[in-house]
Amino acid sequence: YNVPEAFNEPVKSYAPGTPEREQVLVTFKELYNTTVDVPLYIGTEEIRTGKTKTINPPFDHKKTVGTYHEAEKEHVVKAIETALEARKKWASMAWEQRASIFLKAAELLAGPYRAKINAATMIAQAKTVHQAEIDAACEFIDFLRFNVEFMTQIYAEQPVSSEGIWNRMEHRPLEGFIYAITPFNFTAIAGNLPASPALMGNVVVWKPSAAQVYSANVIMEVFKLAGLPDGVINMVHGDPVMITDTLLESPDFAGIHYTGSTAVFNGIWAKIGQNMGKGIYKTYPRIVGETGGKDFVLAHPSSIPAQVATGLSRGAFEFQGQKCSAASRAYIPQSIWPAVKDQLVADIASMKMGSPEDLSNFITCVIHEGSFDKLAKYIDAAKNSPEAEIIAGGKYDKSVGYFIEPTVIVTTNPQYETMHTELFGPVLTIYVYEDAKWEETLKLVDETSPYALTGAIFSQDRYAIEQATKALENCAGNFYINDKPTGAVVGQQPFGGARASGTNDKAGSILNLLRWVSPRTIKETF
Ligand code: GLU
Repeated sequence: YNVPEAFNEPVKSYAPGTPEREQVLVTFKELYNTTVDVPLYIGTEEIRTGKTKTINPPFDHKKTVGTYHEAEKEHVVKAIETALEARKKWASMAWEQRASIFLKAAELLAGPYRAKINAATMIAQAKTVHQAEIDAACEFIDFLRFNVEFMTQIYAEQPVSSEGIWNRMEHRPLEGFIYAITPFNFTAIAGNLPASPALMGNVVVWKPSAAQVYSANVIMEVFKLAGLPDGVINMVHGDPVMITDTLLESPDFAGIHYTGSTAVFNGIWAKIGQNMGKGIYKTYPRIVGETGGKDFVLAHPSSIPAQVATGLSRGAFEFQGQKCSAASRAYIPQSIWPAVKDQLVADIASMKMGSPEDLSNFITCVIHEGSFDKLAKYIDAAKNSPEAEIIAGGKYDKSVGYFIEPTVIVTTNPQYETMHTELFGPVLTIYVYEDAKWEETLKLVDETSPYALTGAIFSQDRYAIEQATKALENCAGNFYINDKPTGAVVGQQPFGGARASGTNDKAGSILNLLRWVSPRTIKETF
């Protein structure tokens, strides 16, 4: 299969004097001083229902940058019908045509739309320009390019034939439509969840997170400009329960591509099970989900304190800690703790927090009031707990934006609540263990949290690395040796976890694309 070779989009620097810096600042201002009115996109139609919600930047929540329209049930039903109608042509379209559309989308994002997708992500999701560049530009582009390469690898997968017999396999799309539910924290994930099934010939109804509608609207613009036929990806907003129930009730529901909380995913799975019990589906739906995490950093006494401290500060606080993969619980041996602590506290003191418009800020605020209040509650509880001490941060303020200082809780109880509860924000909890209790600590890491997304071991001792790699084999789908547990790159570190972290269908790899085909084997005898 002849397709352009996939490569990872180089990350631009946005250093003073660079053209990308100029462009993103101008675009940010333009967007910030206008408002958008985001419709439902159903086939050729842009539907404005009149039932609207405002879009407010999290770092300046009194400001309004737009509105979006919420669907009624009839619109969701219409989205299904429209998708199924589009499927008649899309599912049998030559793969080169489908690939071209998504490769063109990648080129638009790499060039003329880079500033817009980044600025929209800065505004809607409060990312710094560097965070937006890594996510909304580079990772999104990488998904689109690598998906095409994975697709050709799937098509190349063919059975053997023998004399007088020709065996072959057709990698068809699923029969029905795919429901994509996407999170606020990555524009790249929001774009990839509808795009990867669509590339494989599927049609999609997409519900972006309410907090990401603004940049999702730019994604739709890019897909349309790239030539995606109407009805292949339909975008709806509104009451998530109504939308989900309506889509899951359809006999043509063929699969879900989900990233979000564990609780919501569990509820969806249960509903699919109930519907399955009623026998309403034409086919077994594919259930693909990436959910929560309580990702660990484990340091061995042989580790280098400076490396551990950097892993903690970057792993826990970059992206405001709003990553499924963020380091949120750490186990540090007593012998190196004083050195790790000194550097960690100094690193945090140097992190500049503020609005994304000021490009010198390293971190911004959390996504919305619900998230802010939850984090503040856990920080307050730590302040009042005899088992916890806050050694950095601890202050918060939502008067202008939802700002929470990068906060480190040190606990004497390895089962302390924030050692196992996912907070999804800039709060790291550390347990300092006695060096001699290394083996017990391995057990603690494995048994403390229900999640299994990412984790990191820091050590200079190969035996300890080997031991941890084996002992922790089920508690991280992405395991890092002497590095922070975040920052998986498409094509390089296929991403996903098991246990309560999801179905481990590895975004950014062929394994994910395989979920969106229903192969037919054909045997022909001559
Ligand atoms: N892929 C991202 C990383 O490795 C995290 C994605 C997420 O938060 O869902 O850091």
